[in-house]
This record gives sequence, structure tokens and C-alpha cells, in this order.
Amino acid sequence: MSVSSSAVDESICSTTWPKFHGYHQYSLKISSSLKASLPRKLKWKNSPAKPTEAYKPVLIEQIANIVTHGSCILPAVCATWLLIQRASTPTQYWAGLIYGIALVFLFTVSAAFHTTCCLCNSSKYLQIRDVLHRGDRAMIYIFIASSYFPWLSLVPNLNVTAETTNKSASSLLPMLLSWCGVNSLVAADLRWLVWFLAAMGILYQQIFHEKYKWLETLIYVLIGLLPSLPFVHGDEFQGVWELKIGGACYIIGLIFFKADGRIPLAHAIWHIHVALGASIHYYAVFSYLIG
Ligand SMILES: [Zn+2]
Repeated sequence: MSVSSSAVDESICSTTWPKFHGYHQYSLKISSSLKASLPRKLKWKNSPAKPTEAYKPVLIEQIANIVTHGSCILPAVCATWLLIQRASTPTQYWAGLIYGIALVFLFTVSAAFHTTCCLCNSSKYLQIRDVLHRGDRAMIYIFIASSYFPWLSLVPNLNVTAETTNKSASSLLPMLLSWCGVNSLVAADLRWLVWFLAAMGILYQQIFHEKYKWLETLIYVLIGLLPSLPFVHGDEFQGVWELKIGGACYIIGLIFFKADGRIPLAHAIWHIHVALGASIHYYAVFSYLIG
């Protein structure tokens, strides 16, 4: 018995079409559910946080936060290793080591905090997120104190004498010291004062975490700038300009630190300013203080 070609086609179609049709329907279903799960427009930021709450970054901001500080960890480890290799005296070694460890921890704690926020979103990780958030903020104070440490330990004759420095218009602190009857503030005093201020800042931050955010920022600025006032008012020593430019990076960065929800990727931009300021300060410590 012969079978015509049209009959064969028909029989093939009748057996394969239902399968093909089913597959087609299935793939359409997948693509439509994928489309529904993807945001129509890429979201770059959320609304600003309420005064007593932390800002909730969108996914792209979280990734940018992780990358901008996570990518600095390995360079910071190498930079620390180079610094202690270059040290030629015990004071240089310890100054380089303390500064370097703070540099590595600053980026590591920050990257760990932002990674946890991104990957461990549920409420059962709330406690670890809170601990890392507090640690991230505490590292800013520790980093400020350790950034001063090499300068206050290694710049020779870094004595601040009220009578000799109050001729400068910008030397407010020596003037105040003079009025208070303090004639000379040596680097060693300042070095411990900076750590004391950092400890006070951490204590304040642990008690009032996320409560008075503007006050917290103001404390960062005060602790960051006050110890520099007695000696960064001229160009008496090498590296003073790098200190000023690096400090300016941190200050400009604070604009973005306070702009979550107003400027897209604001926190990642703050991170970049921190990395830039730290690089400039590191260059100065490496070039002028150690070796
Ligand atoms: Zn951060």
C-alpha cells in the first residue's frame, strides 16, 4: 500500500505540532515571567531614609558599595607590606604597621558590611548587619587617629608653640592654647589626644548609633580636622600639601556621605573619595616619612 506525501506531512504535523505548540507556550510563559521579575527601568536609588533610620540602597548601589571598597583590600595589604619593608627604624616600623593595619581594616570592614547587607537581607541577619555597621563607623574614627599617627610620630620637631604660631591667621588652636595658658603642645601629646578623641567618638557612636546623624558627621569633621590645626597652617615640612589635599578629598566626600537617596550611588562616591584621600596620604607617608 502506497502512502501519499501529503498524507505523510499531515501525519508528521499531527504528531509533532502538539509538542511544538506546548514547548512554544512554555517558553512564552518563561519569558513573560522573567520580564515580570525584571524591573522595567533600572533603579539607581531609593528615597532618602527617615531621620533615625538607615538608608536602604538599591541593588546596583549595594554592588557599587562592595566593589569600591572591596577592590581596595588587596592594594592596601600590598601597600602595608611595602611600608614596613621600607622602615629603617623601630618607630618607622610601628608607625607604618599601625597605619597600614588601619588602612586594611577600613576597607575590609566596609566591604564585609556592604556584602552582608547585599547577600544577607532577611531579618535573621539583623544582628550581624548591626554589628558590622557599627564596626564600619568605628573604623572611620580609628582610621582618622591612625592617619595622624605616622606624622605625629615621625615628623621631626613637630612642636606647636603657641607664641610662635599665633602669628598665622589660620592657627586658631594655638591661639586658644595661648589663652588657656598652654605654651607648647608637642606631637606626642597630640598623638594621644587624637586616639582619645577617636575613643570618645566610638563611644558616642555606639550609644547614639543612627540617632543624631548630622551630629555624627560633625564629630567626624571635628576629630578629623582639630588635631591638624596646630601644625597644618604652613608648609614647614614635606608632605603638608598632600595632607591638605587628602583631607580635602575626605571633606568633599562627606557631601556624598550625607546624600544617600538624593544622589544615585552617593555612598559609593563617598567610598571613592575615601580611597583617593587615603592614597594621597599613603603616598606622602611612603615618600617623606618612612625609609
Ligand atoms: Zn560604606
